[in-house]
Amino acid sequence: MIPFDNSYARLPEKFYARLDPTPVKAPALIKVNTALAVELGIDPAEIDADVVAGNRIPEGALPIAQAYAGHQFGNFTPQLGDGRAIMLGEVVGRDGRRRDLQLKGSGPTPWSRRGDGRAALGPVLREYIVSEAMHALGVPTTRSLAAATTGEYVFREEVLPGAVLLRIAASHIRVGTFQYFAARGDQEAVRALADHAIARHYPEAAEAPNPYLAFFGKVVAAQADLIPQWLHLGFIHGVMNTDNCTISGETIDYGPCAFLDEYNPGAVFSSIDHGGRYAYGNQPRIAQWNLARLAEALLPLLAENEEAAVEAAQETLAAFAPRFHEGYLNGLRAKLGLFEAREEDVALAQDLLQAMADSQADFTLTFRALCAAAEGSDAPRQYFTDLARYDAWAVRWKERLAAEPLPDRPARMRAVNPAFIPRNHLVEAAIAAAVSNGDFAPFEAMLGVLARPYEDQPETPDRFRLPPQPEERVLQTFCGT
Ligand code: AMP
Ligand code: MG
Ligand code: MG
Repeated sequence: MIPFDNSYARLPEKFYARLDPTPVKAPALIKVNTALAVELGIDPAEIDADVVAGNRIPEGALPIAQAYAGHQFGNFTPQLGDGRAIMLGEVVGRDGRRRDLQLKGSGPTPWSRRGDGRAALGPVLREYIVSEAMHALGVPTTRSLAAATTGEYVFREEVLPGAVLLRIAASHIRVGTFQYFAARGDQEAVRALADHAIARHYPEAAEAPNPYLAFFGKVVAAQADLIPQWLHLGFIHGVMNTDNCTISGETIDYGPCAFLDEYNPGAVFSSIDHGGRYAYGNQPRIAQWNLARLAEALLPLLAENEEAAVEAAQETLAAFAPRFHEGYLNGLRAKLGLFEAREEDVALAQDLLQAMADSQADFTLTFRALCAAAEGSDAPRQYFTDLARYDAWAVRWKERLAAEPLPDRPARMRAVNPAFIPRNHLVEAAIAAAVSNGDFAPFEAMLGVLARPYEDQPETPDRFRLPPQPEERVLQTFCGT
């Protein structure tokens, strides 16, 4: 039996719609994440094809679709909601942490609008691969517990096999969940949601003189800590709408996401991001913008009068920038093998990044090669077009390293500069093999490699390491539906 304890379903009925997933024709398991199941205290055998596809409701589950709103590309939609996702319930894992179990692609809900409530196999595999890779890379994220094909087709621009993802999250509460009630002027619901989120994610905020302000501060801190981790891995979320911004600080929604191959701070992959709103280098600004929307939704809870509330919110939000910058700089330092803070480090890091951008140097390979360079190799040179420029930079870097002697520097650098990331072209190839030929071997192979991204894995073929050939390059990504 899955040990469900469904706290969200105990909130007022207007928070969700109670409904079951729609059964599908021929469920077949693609994958069960047995290690994760065990962590959650779930017997992996409980997670069978019928449960993952939504054909059987496990005992103790109380399926609901959650209500939420959101700013999409800056425009507010007062009603979005789970249009193709249904939460089965919550489980408190062996670590004491509570997690949602949610089916994605499990059929229509009251929030489906014109959508079919379904997911195609490709996006399900992408989310599985990338979310699990992000976890192995050390980034807070929703995770993938299982996936199944449905034996049915979904109709997009083409006819595609359907699938369902069983994903877990610390919760699915988003900035947009608060916006949903705030937009309706339902202050009591905003308060109930905040109380729930505090108890669940930031119980220490309840002890503060102003619990709701402390709660807002915690969310600000969580996002300010998350975004640097994306940047240090070359991750581009691609659709940082307020409904895709979690209160827990976990990364959520792997629709049009991508990873940098060559370093380019302006990189945009999403086909619908015409203005580059969600470009790689814009992500900190957007996170802060999303947090300002959260502050607006919480405003009536923050102080007796609006003026005082606005002032308190602004002061709390002002902590985002310095916290982000500190995390970003410390992470860059660590990538360079520096663990003490020195004034000159900012220029040292910036000059490297600028040289990388000008050389279109591969982001992952260059930093991984720097780990070897800390032991005397000149491996990074191959990624630069202007060798004299790299050499001059390397002299400065070596001087800086000498000022901070550290016997285990290469190992510490390898622990933050991955050898493997889910390269866009490899994800696409794994999806194509599964969709076109029913061949899940490339999907499995990627999961295996990406489970240990910081290890050299000499046995692993080079194609998992290398950037795409020109004809393999992914130029655009699409909102996964
Ligand atoms: P997303 O772009 O994944 O953040 O989703 C934005 C909104 O569109 C959410 O309310 C989703 O539930 C909804 N949505 C996306 N795809 C579908 C679909 N195939 N059927 C119904 N609703 C969908
Ligand atoms: Mg979403
Ligand atoms: Mg999405």
